[in-house]
Amino acid sequence: MRLEAFAWTDPGPVRENNEDTFLVDQDAGLFIVADGMGGHAAGEVASRLATDTIRDLLQEGDDPDETRLDRAVQDPGDVLRERLRYAMNQASARIRREAQMKPAYSGMGTTVCVLLVEGDQAHVAHVGDSRIYLFRDGQLSRLTRDHTVVQQEIDAGRLTPELARQVAHRNYLTQSVGYHGPVEPDTATRALNPGDLFVLCSDGVTDPLEDKRIAEICATAYPTDLAETLVREALRAGGEDNITVVTVRVMED
Ligand code: CA
Repeated sequence: MRLEAFAWTDPGPVRENNEDTFLVDQDAGLFIVADGMGGHAAGEVASRLATDTIRDLLQEGDDPDETRLDRAVQDPGDVLRERLRYAMNQASARIRREAQMKPAYSGMGTTVCVLLVEGDQAHVAHVGDSRIYLFRDGQLSRLTRDHTVVQQEIDAGRLTPELARQVAHRNYLTQSVGYHGPVEPDTATRALNPGDLFVLCSDGVTDPLEDKRIAEICATAYPTDLAETLVREALRAGGEDNITVVTVRVMED
């Protein structure tokens, strides 16, 4: 199987900066969306630092002693998920070091969602509220669960998903890379099918567009235009935040 990826980003109509960062590396099978936060240009710095750190560590490919890997366990999925967890924590530490050295960067952090394809398997990891969706056989499913206060409230049955879209604090994160220090990313592995379509995006997409609408767009847009179409639709729906989409399509050889 081979991969075909596209990306699109837009600062939106309100913000001067684009604090989102994306990475598309088809050869490495590595795809990242990070949504930074912090005063001045700090959000941009945080999302860029996280993306670069994770890419570099995954490319080095060695298993540092600090990982929690049980060397007796040979499941390659375990190894990759552990590498992702380690890389995100190293990114978090690096952002905190930068923030300590420069007062303007104080309090910066970022969401990170990563899709790593190896062989016929897709590994996903995330911290924060940037999401990864899988569109397969006409159905859209969310592979990530937001690390937000409102998602916790939904899980506890105290808030409906509909009401959650309207509350003012819906973007409060329970975890972020950098700001929150050590992180515990959610990780998962899935077998790939030809025709699978992965969508990585920042909340600039999912705030204005409900999953139902994202599914409609995935079903109707040309795959080559999908990233751009989702960004344009988010803008049309009133999106004011930075908006970023990476799409990855799995093709038969
Ligand atoms: Ca955002």
